[in-house]
Amino acid sequence: MAKALIIGAGGVAQVAAHKCVENKRVFTELCIASRTRSRCDELKHKLDGRGVPISTAQVNADNVSELVALIHKEKPDIVMNLALPYQDLTIMDACLETGVDYLDTANYEPEDTAKFEYKWQWAYQDRFRERGLTAILGSGFDPGVTGVFSAYALKHEFDEIHEIDILDCNGGDHGYPFATNFNPEINIREVTANGRYYEDGQFIETPPMAISSRYDFEGVGVRDMYLLYHEELESLAKHIPGVRRIRFFMTFGESYLTHLRCLQNVGMTSIEPILYQGIEIIPLQFLKAVLPDPASLGPRTKGKTNIGCIFTGKKDGVDKVWRLYNISDHEEAYREVGSQAVSYTTGVPAMIGASMVLTGAWKKPGVWNVEQLDPDPFMDALNRFGLPWIVDDNPAPVL
Ligand code: NDP
Repeated sequence: MAKALIIGAGGVAQVAAHKCVENKRVFTELCIASRTRSRCDELKHKLDGRGVPISTAQVNADNVSELVALIHKEKPDIVMNLALPYQDLTIMDACLETGVDYLDTANYEPEDTAKFEYKWQWAYQDRFRERGLTAILGSGFDPGVTGVFSAYALKHEFDEIHEIDILDCNGGDHGYPFATNFNPEINIREVTANGRYYEDGQFIETPPMAISSRYDFEGVGVRDMYLLYHEELESLAKHIPGVRRIRFFMTFGESYLTHLRCLQNVGMTSIEPILYQGIEIIPLQFLKAVLPDPASLGPRTKGKTNIGCIFTGKKDGVDKVWRLYNISDHEEAYREVGSQAVSYTTGVPAMIGASMVLTGAWKKPGVWNVEQLDPDPFMDALNRFGLPWIVDDNPAPVL
């Protein structure tokens, strides 16, 4: 029926490719293209013989003309951008030039400024609409499933949503004193930035990790969590009518925080270039090179993730608090697709988002965040493809 071009061959792409092959009713052909072709070939090797023909290619996704040439050659129906947020705009440009639909899991961030914002990608709205093309932004777990959960809560469970607390708990243990579960550069840029949350029509900024709380997560236990700014706060504040407050909390262990503080104190998390033996290097990129590759954590990680949203609002005039979440197991994810659960919880929704466009359920010219589209078919697919959701009608609030 349809061919997808996956760009990137890291942890998330590995899961998405496995899941596309599992959903072969929709994905009848794949091309996996990335900067390092050998990683695409390794992935193809794992998936060959499962009924979906796979080709591979080398591409520098920072270069629009290389992307255009690849898309002309492979003729995909959708491009799934599972590389890094730095490549979002070049890949969107190539999709516009070749007339192909687009999907990603993280919003654009300039490589030389630790700042992510939707304005750059939202600016493509008219061009995608006029070309009759669909672009789906942020179809991972957070952003992604958290937006779909919000749309579902608004459609079925609430007349008004007043507050959304997104809680992201990774209770996994990989045995290293310090490692990140997805791309270290992106992860560290995110957690060292100032915190920010939405309240009464404006964003309130806090120093990094200044607001914390403790929560009892089913499947994991009691964990400390910290308020971070996360990209879906910007889109949910715009798209969930009447919402008064949105916050995002992520859990971190003591060892992670101690290492991060130390690395920050010595300047290793900086993105300002420095001269080292006559060569310009960026400390954070050097740090990435010495840290464990997130893809290598798969076989070592034990424990579970518990990610979801607590909604507060009104239904039929009565106050209501309601929670939707998913629990995923690192070892089960690794057994199934060879990646730990953080990649799993991102790669599955990426495949589902692409299948929504390819089957027509989310085929709508323009640039969309997932909460702007019908949540129902996506919610069904979460249950079918390995991320079943759990409802809690009486959740504990975040104190
Ligand atoms: P990885 O670092 O494991 O993989 C990134 C891949 O992109 C690598 O294969 C890399 O190639 C490739 N790549 C990087 N730059 C280029 C380029 N210029 N041209 C072509 N390929 C390139 O990252 P993850 O798989 O962990 O993350 C993928 C995306 O998912 C990121 O954008 C991340 O922010 C996002 N994410 C979203 C989440 C969500 O819930 N929404 C959660 C987790 C991640 P090479 O092998 O050569 O380095």
